[in-house]
Amino acid sequence: MKHMEALEKIFADTPGTSTIVITCKCEDCGCELTVDVTATPEGFGLQSGVLLAGGANGFLAQCLDCHQVNPKMPNSYASTS
Ligand SMILES: [Zn+2]
Repeated sequence: MKHMEALEKIFADTPGTSTIVITCKCEDCGCELTVDVTATPEGFGLQSGVLLAGGANGFLAQCLDCHQVNPKMPNSYASTS
């Protein structure tokens, strides 16, 4: 399973941080998206959106509305709770 290297790098660059905020745009509808990312023992916990590996920045974003209609995450990197 591919890891979210881009996210891991952000956490590595900001020692001591348990939560980072990613501002991006939804790949599907283009809406502005702010995703809170929390490092957990299992991986990453996401709120307000989903992220998946890929794209120029190392990750792609999808808002929860689009994710419900058209999930792009065959491998679950995150919970959306
Ligand atoms: Zn969307």
